[in-house]
Amino acid sequence: MKVAIIEGIRPTLMPEGPQIEREILGAGIGVNWYGLIKSEEYTSVLRDLDAVIVRPGTPFSKEMVLSLKKARVIVSLGVGYDHISIDTSREKGIPVCNVPDYGTEEVADSTVTMVLAHQRKIFLFNCHSSCDSDFINWDWRIFKPITRSRQMRVGIIGLGRIGTAVALRLKAFGYEIVFYDPYIPRGVEKSLGLKRFHQKELLLNTADIVSVHTPLTEETRGMIDERFLELMKPRAILINTARGGIFKNADILFNHLKNYLEFRVGSDVWPEEPPINHHPLLDVWKNREPWLGDRLILCPHSAFYSDEAIREIRAFAAEIVLTVLSGGKPYNVVNGVNS
Ligand code: NAD
Repeated sequence: MKVAIIEGIRPTLMPEGPQIEREILGAGIGVNWYGLIKSEEYTSVLRDLDAVIVRPGTPFSKEMVLSLKKARVIVSLGVGYDHISIDTSREKGIPVCNVPDYGTEEVADSTVTMVLAHQRKIFLFNCHSSCDSDFINWDWRIFKPITRSRQMRVGIIGLGRIGTAVALRLKAFGYEIVFYDPYIPRGVEKSLGLKRFHQKELLLNTADIVSVHTPLTEETRGMIDERFLELMKPRAILINTARGGIFKNADILFNHLKNYLEFRVGSDVWPEEPPINHHPLLDVWKNREPWLGDRLILCPHSAFYSDEAIREIRAFAAEIVLTVLSGGKPYNVVNGVNS
């Protein structure tokens, strides 16, 4: 049997080659590893494959799906699956699966780090003490006020895997945790000891820190818009470690940070990734302009990363392939095909 891993052109997740996948799949299954496959190679490469693993961001088009003649599963090497032609694979009866939970702890840790760094003004103190002057400024009073975490309310939008992990971590620090998620069953708030809001507006109005953990869907695309920001407290902290498309665009962030000089943002994502197009907010952030200061923490979609998380994505993807090729049912199917 033959499996192809198609990784695309971004820095590889498997610098040592597909050893983890080969170990899991065993000697009876050949593994070939590709960057991109050229259109003239579709027939020769894809025809005989029994399974394909494709990394998000690497298109697996309709033509590619149609070139598969015996494949029994296509696995996305990550959460997203919009790079795979879902309709065509459904029509052909090939299940498409994803790996949705590899970085839950890491994203939660990154989120909490952003919350604490902003709330405790860590970057501001670090920079003020060392960067801005000829002498070391050893005065803690310069950035008053700072509020105690037990006096602050965190509003979580989307209480799924990551939202819950964030809630539990921040609860341990003493924050009051409220959440808005219309899709989870009644009573979750009781089992987790959190406060549930049925109106997002109420959460935005009253939270000191808002952290977004929804998927990117038709409903959440552009959810963080002018109105969303205007509903927040002027000195609030907004965290988005979910998806860049949940921001309406970068202009609204720029304008809000400019209009509200105590407002803070922590983001692991950007409306366009990687941000190849120039945007004034990126310039201001890069140039460390004083009016923005430390109020924008921006990371390059790195919240998921740990060596263990990378190993987990790769191992889970290979395990799905092995299950299907051994005659088992696929799991984490995202296109409704469950053969
Ligand atoms: P999940 O599916 O477990 O949870 C998402 C939750 O959002 C669900 O409980 C769902 O009911 C809720 N939800 C959906 N639409 C909503 C809406 N309109 N309003 C409020 N709640 C809504 O997903 P997850 O694994 O927790 O991932 C959360 C987000 O983090 C996703 O966007 C995912 O793509 C992203 N993510 C980011 C990274 C990273 O490196 N930055 C890594 C992994 C996942």
